[in-house]
Amino acid sequence: MPSLLDVVSSRLATLLPSELRSHELTKLLAPHQHSLLLSQRRATLIVTRVRMFAFLFAILTPLWGLIDLMVFTYPLWPGLAACRLMACGAFVCLLLFYRPSGNLFDAYRAIAILFAIPTVFYVASHIMLGGHQLTQFSAAVATGYAFLPFVLMAGLAIFPLTLLENLVLASVLLLAQVAVGYLSWSTLNWPSYVGAFWLLVLIAGVTALASLSQLAFMIALVRQAIRDPLTGVFSRGSGEDILQLHWHAARRSDQALAVAFVDLDHFKPINDMFGHEAGDQALRDCTRKMLEKLRGSDSLVRWGGEEFVVIMPDTDIEQAQIAMRRMVEDGLGFRPDGQPLTASIGLAERCFDCVEDQRQLLELADQRMYLAKSEGRNRLCTADAPLGASA
Ligand code: GH3
Ligand code: MG
Ligand code: MG
Repeated sequence: MPSLLDVVSSRLATLLPSELRSHELTKLLAPHQHSLLLSQRRATLIVTRVRMFAFLFAILTPLWGLIDLMVFTYPLWPGLAACRLMACGAFVCLLLFYRPSGNLFDAYRAIAILFAIPTVFYVASHIMLGGHQLTQFSAAVATGYAFLPFVLMAGLAIFPLTLLENLVLASVLLLAQVAVGYLSWSTLNWPSYVGAFWLLVLIAGVTALASLSQLAFMIALVRQAIRDPLTGVFSRGSGEDILQLHWHAARRSDQALAVAFVDLDHFKPINDMFGHEAGDQALRDCTRKMLEKLRGSDSLVRWGGEEFVVIMPDTDIEQAQIAMRRMVEDGLGFRPDGQPLTASIGLAERCFDCVEDQRQLLELADQRMYLAKSEGRNRLCTADAPLGASA
């Protein structure tokens, strides 16, 4: 009989986002396990959403100034109007000058700026309103200013954030609320302050759920968009993005970057003799074998039919040769007639070959793959002369 704990844990497991696979769930916790492509797309989306938010606030912030004009007396309303105009200007600057770069730190900075603008406005308006005697009507409008932290907390829901990022941002907003309580300690209405604080915590909880759900959908969508459906390895489009990202990173820090072009030998006869399904199965088996032998930091890309590209960051030509020999040493699976499936591999490396850009690096690997074919197949070619049979 299942124990109560088993029942509870299996029920709780049904609450987890079903669009994710079990190994992807940890990606909801913190960003460090995200692939380069997921981080890049998430950073782009966050900056796009920051700009949307800034656009909305750039319109709404000065509009509310008309209400201020009607309810507040001189010199309070010109002061508030000046604050609103400055906040509006800052939002417009954010909108005009901040562009998505695909870098996660740029995205964090965009959120920080977006939240800093209304926070400064909130503190400034709080000080101004505190220094004035308000009538019943204007006091009611002034309480509207206290809603700003709630708007900011709810605003977190539009970003696809991990649990850790949600906790950090929500804590900053809660601390700001504590600071406001501390500043108005002597006149604080405790029941209403505690009620507002609890409401802020509840909103933080709901917001975190919304934000994590967005992230879960994003992880699933990125997986579908970047993976080849037959083999599960990276598809060509995402492979090009990965190569570009690694190229820029390698050039910035002057590190090695190796690329191998892998073409399966005599693959067409498998289809011709045993059918397309047998060919598909051979492709699946062979990618599984290759993945088993590659490092976690390497990327395997299905470039076309039976052609693959292996991207090996921080790997010099000697290490890349060892990696490719290791990849094929136990074979790449078998053809349906029991014969071993082999590949011709061309290898190129950024520093060793002194190439100008990532396209040239790939072309060189491709040319060397053809050289390996012409030299008799089932071999590795690293320079303009082949180094002998690899398997
Ligand atoms: P070589 O040793 O010169 O590379 O010969 P090859 O037969 O491997 O090369 P060729 O380019 O003539 O043929 C590639 C074949 O790969 C053609 C196509 O039928 C097969 N192929 C490409 N994509 C798939 C696929 O998704 N599934 C299956 N079953 N076969 C595929
Ligand atoms: Mg081919
Ligand atoms: Mg081939």
